[in-house]
Formats: sequence, C-alpha cells, structure tokens
Amino acid sequence: MDFSDRVSTLAPEGAYAVLEKATTLEALGKDIIHLEIGQPDFQTFKNITRAGIKAINEGFTRYTPSAGIKTLREVIAQDAGDRRDTNISPSQVVVCPGAKPALFFPTLALIEPGDEVIYPDPGFPTYRAMIEVAGGVPVPVPLLEEKNFGFDLDVFNQLINEKTHLVVINSPSNPTGGVMGQADLEHIANLAMEYDFWVLSDEIYSRLVYSERVPSITAIPGMQARTIICDGFSKTFAMTGWRLGYGIMPESLAEKVSLLLTHSVGCTASFTQIAGIEAIQGDQDQVETVVSEYKKRRDILVNGLNNLPGIHCQLPEGAFYAFPNITSFGHGSDWLAEYLLDKADVALLPGTSFGKHGEGYLRLCFANSVEKIILALDRIRVALDSL
Ligand code: PLP
Repeated sequence: MDFSDRVSTLAPEGAYAVLEKATTLEALGKDIIHLEIGQPDFQTFKNITRAGIKAINEGFTRYTPSAGIKTLREVIAQDAGDRRDTNISPSQVVVCPGAKPALFFPTLALIEPGDEVIYPDPGFPTYRAMIEVAGGVPVPVPLLEEKNFGFDLDVFNQLINEKTHLVVINSPSNPTGGVMGQADLEHIANLAMEYDFWVLSDEIYSRLVYSERVPSITAIPGMQARTIICDGFSKTFAMTGWRLGYGIMPESLAEKVSLLLTHSVGCTASFTQIAGIEAIQGDQDQVETVVSEYKKRRDILVNGLNNLPGIHCQLPEGAFYAFPNITSFGHGSDWLAEYLLDKADVALLPGTSFGKHGEGYLRLCFANSVEKIILALDRIRVALDSL
C-alpha cells in the first residue's frame, strides 16, 4: 500500500514499545516494576471525578464549541495568567482533548513545507512527529547535562536563520526534569524578536516543580504575540485518561486552531470540561500534597542512583523523571535498558527514545511508590554488578 510522505517517518513512542514488552513478560509471570510510562500513579482527585460524574448525569454529554465551554476558557485564562504574572484573555484559550493537540495543531497552522523548526533533543517524541507531519524541517538542539539540561546556546545561536519559523521549548522537561532559567528564556526571546520566529512553550509540567516557580517565556515583554503555551490537566491533576489540555496563543491563531479542532476531533468531551472547571476551582492543596510526595520519591531515586557505581544523575527540578548518565558502562542506552528489563525486571526507557542526544542516558519515571522505587534500585544494583 502507498502511504503519504507525511506519515512515512512516524514512529511509535518508545514508552509504549517498552510497556508492551514489559506486559508480555508479566503475562509470563514476571514481577515487573514499571518506571517507563510517564503518568501519575494517583487516582484523579475525588472532587474532580465527582464533578465529571455529576456532569454526565446532568446531561453534559453533547457537543460543545470547538474551542471549549466559555466558563472553562475563562477559568483557564484567569488561572494560567495568574500563574505567569501576565494577562490572558479567554479568547486566547483553546481547550483540547489532551495537551498533545495544543502542540500539533498550532504547528500545523504555522508551518509551511521547508520551514525550519528547532526543538530540544532529548525531547518529547511528539515534537519531531508534528514537525514532520506539517512538512517542516526538524532541527534538533542538544540539551547539555552540565547546564542542567538547558539548551546548548552556542549551537542554538548557530542554528537560527531566516528559515527558522518556530522554536519548541519544554520546561520543566520530559525526559530530563531540567528547568530553563530566566536568562536562557530572555536569550531565546531576544532572538525570536530579531529573527521573527514563534515559540511553542510546552509547560505541561509547570506545576510539578520542586524549588521555586518556573519562569514562562510568555511573561517576557513582547513575547505573548509570538508564543503558544501548551498546558493541561493530565499531569497536575492525574487526569491522563480524561483527555483535557489547552493552548494559549494570540487570538487570530486561536481561531485557526479552533477550526482545525472543528474539522478533526470536533470538540473535547463536555463532561471532561466541566470536571476541568472543578480541577482549577477546587482544593489546590491536593496538588501540593502530590508534589511533595513526588519530591520525596525524587530524592530517594536520585540519591539511590548516585550511590550506584558508574552512574551519576542530576537532581531534576521539575516533572517526574530522573535522567541518569550511564556512559561509564560502555554499553548503549538501548542495550542497557533492555538488559535491565530482562535481568532486573525493571522497565525504564533508553534516552534514545527522545532523540539521538539522549544516548548515554536512561529515563526513570518516579511516579511510583517509595517501596517500588527502593526495590527497583536494589534490583538495578544487582544487575549492574554482574555486568
Ligand atoms: N508534553 C509533554 C512534555 C509530555 O510529557 C506529555 C505527556 O507525556 C504531553 C505534552 C501530552 O500530554 P497529554 O497527555 O495531556 O496530551
């Protein structure tokens, strides 16, 4: 069968491939510890679930406007603006089924074939996929471990040219947990204004942070007019399966993205949107509780990894991933990830699932219980000892 060029390079997400193998091993009776998939292990908070069920019973089971229910757009605009010290109008908010469409559709709306799009490597695999589907030229910029996994700005400066139309940033980052500082954001913002490119800032982990608040590029004067923020409910409120996210962008772009939603998914499920209003307006202490639990797990995992001979691991400042350096073992990331699944029964991801600059690293998700994390560390130690 002949398929279009635009789907020819699409590849599965590494996490799903490892999950499939791990599940097959479980079916054979193995006791696998899952540190591969990036989703909260908590249930959605009860007040949110109740609001969703009530909404179904009250008949919120029909189409809504493509860009989302008015009240939800208003509530998001207020909350997202407050968190970034900036004013956001509800007409700039486009509600989507998950955060992914808030990456994919703005890219489709902005990129012409041949436009260059710079994105982080290692980075979330959807970035490269959406650039290629849009016909753009993917241009990876390496993240540097010694810069707390910030952009290699020397390389970045050289990659920018008049064909650069969009730069994707992700802070806190999947897979590294790194956070971009204000100085780096200002550097990118200055170049955006000089070279007239857009910035797509994926801030899905903006509330899962372990030190101070993470700055957003949209708060830099002049940037709101050329920034798309991607954010959502999946990680903060443990709502991955509800499919609820949003993009914040200039109104004219929001109109085009809404049209893409109209003609693809139509709209986001209406009861999910009602649950989203409760998520933002309800008790936020639950988020704080979950974040301090992740912090505890992060510290146990990262300390444990740093105590393993041959491994060193930066302390992630956000998200729920550790990204240890494993170069001293002299094996590639793919090989070592597979070895640890087979020998230690621990499922984790090779850094190469996130691009070629992920070579030399593994990604372990610490959205798992303290007991499982400690057991995983023990098993990894034994398996590495017998290398
Ligand atoms: N952006 C990043 C960096 C992610 O890690 C994820 C999910 O893993 C998403 C976006 C997508 O989130 P959602 O499940 O809400 O579509």
